[in-house]
Amino acid sequence: MSREKSDTGNTVTRFAPSPSGRLHLGHAYSALFAADACGPRGRFLLRIEDIDQGRCRPEFEAGILEDLSWLGLEWETPVWRQSEHMPDYAAALDRLDREGLIFPCFCTRKHLQLEAANAVTAPHGPDGPLYPGTCRRLSRDESADRKAAGEPHALRLNMTESAKRVGALSFQDRALGEILVDATGCGDVVLARKDIATSYHLAVTLDDAAQGVTLVTRGEDLLHATHVHRVLQALLDLPVPDYHHHRLLRDGSGRRYAKRDRAGTLQALREAGRSADDVRKLVTAKP
Ligand code: GLU
Repeated sequence: MSREKSDTGNTVTRFAPSPSGRLHLGHAYSALFAADACGPRGRFLLRIEDIDQGRCRPEFEAGILEDLSWLGLEWETPVWRQSEHMPDYAAALDRLDREGLIFPCFCTRKHLQLEAANAVTAPHGPDGPLYPGTCRRLSRDESADRKAAGEPHALRLNMTESAKRVGALSFQDRALGEILVDATGCGDVVLARKDIATSYHLAVTLDDAAQGVTLVTRGEDLLHATHVHRVLQALLDLPVPDYHHHRLLRDGSGRRYAKRDRAGTLQALREAGRSADDVRKLVTAKP
């Protein structure tokens, strides 16, 4: 089925980096993987994931474009920037709010750490202890009063309620096959942060649909996130793309590449005299 789809020439893939640092070899692998996965007749898109304006910088965005061009990649323009789509994220939040599926969460990081430390068996998800549900249990009046008083709050998805609403779900992964969704595995995820009126989960899900992405390729470290995205797609009546969670590229000591490792950036490799062809060979040769 996947093969048929790519053979029709309609496959749309994307590479979606955050401009919070320079690209490294791991990014090069992901970008080349996505560009390759759309096939010769498909479309390859670039999306700049810049919702966190505190960490993102224009010079890093310029660096991303420079590095990808140097690698020989071409993408459609205009480039999609998440910071330009905040009203779309707000509209989706409104809809989920009207349907009673989100709640304001006033918890501080400290409170959540204390709760987790005090719980005898705090259920854990892929990112640590699951949200304990403190603010999900607040009365409507108390929530409204605290919001009206200007208390900072995030917005969380009521996952138990959402799971009931959407029923059993699955998605197709081109490497792993059909995957049954574990809706509550990540708990009541944040859909709008205290400081940013959206979150990774919400923005990515909406953008993949709005950009017509038919095959989402991303690192296997984000497999858990796809379960959340599948629930959001069902709640918001969005199309469901195929997925391909790929392996993560590791350095000589088995560690994942990170933005802080200056030596592994494409810029550093270029300045050290490596060619784009060398980098392509490096990322395909690495196990
Ligand atoms: N922006 C995300 C990252 O840099 C990738 C988003 C995605 O592929 O879902 O890790």
